[in-house]
Amino acid sequence: MAASTQARSSTCQFSHRRTAALAIALAGLLYAPAGLAAGQPDAALRQAASAALLQQTAALRASAALPPETWVDLGKSDPSGRWVMGSVTEQIDGSRDETPRSKLFLARRDGQRWTVGLEGSETFFSMLEQAPTSLLAEAEKSAFRSQRKSATARPNAAPQLLAGETGLGLPWPEGVAWYMGGGPHGNSGDSRPFDSIDFSGGDGRVLAPRDGRIYKSCIRNGSAIVQLVHDNGYTTRYYHMVNLPTLADGTLVRKGAYLGQIGNGLPCGGSTTGPHVHFSLSQNGQAIAVNGKTVGGWQFFEGAQPYAGYALRNGRRVNTGGSLVNYGADQGPTPEPQPRTVTVKAPSANQLVNLRANPSLSAAVVATARNGDRIQIVCHAYGDEVNGNWGRTRLWNRLTTNTWVSDGFVDTGSNEPVVPACSTLKRP
Ligand SMILES: [Zn+2]
Repeated sequence: MAASTQARSSTCQFSHRRTAALAIALAGLLYAPAGLAAGQPDAALRQAASAALLQQTAALRASAALPPETWVDLGKSDPSGRWVMGSVTEQIDGSRDETPRSKLFLARRDGQRWTVGLEGSETFFSMLEQAPTSLLAEAEKSAFRSQRKSATARPNAAPQLLAGETGLGLPWPEGVAWYMGGGPHGNSGDSRPFDSIDFSGGDGRVLAPRDGRIYKSCIRNGSAIVQLVHDNGYTTRYYHMVNLPTLADGTLVRKGAYLGQIGNGLPCGGSTTGPHVHFSLSQNGQAIAVNGKTVGGWQFFEGAQPYAGYALRNGRRVNTGGSLVNYGADQGPTPEPQPRTVTVKAPSANQLVNLRANPSLSAAVVATARNGDRIQIVCHAYGDEVNGNWGRTRLWNRLTTNTWVSDGFVDTGSNEPVVPACSTLKRP
C-alpha cells in the first residue's frame, strides 16, 4: 500500500539511544565550574530540576535503578538570579518503551538550595504566583494559569462544537494541504500517550496554530524543542524543526507566525527518516492523546499501530500518508489579522472622503482622506447604505486607526468584503 510506505518515510522517534560520547559530554556539563558560562545552570539547580523530573516519571520508569541522564537548560532569570525559568529533558534508552520528557520549570534559590516546580505541578502554579514580574510578565503568567483551569473545565461541553475541539488549527497556512506522514504516536513511537502526529508538505514553514507564548528547550545543533503555551489550556510542541526564529522565551507569537522549517533536527536525540515536524499536544502540562481531538477541522483517531490511524471531517476519512487541508480552528476569537492596504477613491479628484466613528452616516466624522490616499483596513461590517463609486453599498471597512470608511469610496478590487467581519475579531 502506497500510503504505508509514505508513512514510514517520515516517521520519527523522539527517544534517545545512549552513547558513550553523549555520556562524556553530559559529564562535562554536569561538572562545569559554576559561573563558567552565563546561561548555564549551577550544579545544585541541575540536581534539583533533574530530581523533580525523575520523581514525576518514576512510576513510568521500567527501571528506576538506571542512573538518570537529564539536560537542564536555563531559559531566563530575574536580575537577582534568584528566580529562574528553564527546562529539564530526560534522556532515555530508546530500546525501552518509555516516554522521554521535557518540562519547563520555575526555580527559586534560597541560599544554596533550589526549589523547583515542574510545569503542570501544584508547586509550579504556586511559584507562578510568587515569581517576580521581572521574570514572568503578568500576561505570560496568565497563559500558564489557563493550563490549570483547563484541568477542571469542560472544553467540549458546547454542543455546536466539533467533538474534541481544541481551538487549534494545524500548523501551516489555512486552506493549504500537507501530508500526514505519521498518524498518532508517542514520543518514542509506541510509547503512550499517542500525543503526536508527523506532518510535512507545502513550503515546509511551520506556523503557529493559535496565539501562544513561545518557549524553546534543549537548544542544540540548530534545533530545539519548541513549545507554544496557548491561552485556552492547550500547549503544542514541535520537534525536528530547523531555522528557528530568535524569539526570547515568553514572547507572544500570533496565530500564523513562523515557528521553524520542517527538518531532521535532533537536538535531544531520536531519529528521523525525512524532514517533517513532530507535532504534539499537551494540556495542564501533561501530554495527552490526540485520539478524538479535533485540530484544524479534522478529528484524529489512533490506528492499531503507532503511526497508523486517520483523520475524519464531515464523514470523509484520510488515512496516514494522505493529505489534509488545514481548516483552521472552529472555536475561539480570530486574532487580529494583517491589515490590508487599499486606495481611497473620492467621487471627484478634489473631494474628501469622510472617516467616521461608526459605520453610519450620522456618526461623527473623525478624519478625512484624499483621493488616492493609501489606507489600511482590518475588518468589515454592514451599516448605512451609501451611494459610492460602484453603486449602492452597505459595506463599511474599519481602519487600523479605528475609524470607518464606506466601501463605496475605497478601491479594494472587490464589491465583497476583503477583510474579516469585525464581529469575529478580538477587540483590543
Ligand atoms: Zn513523530
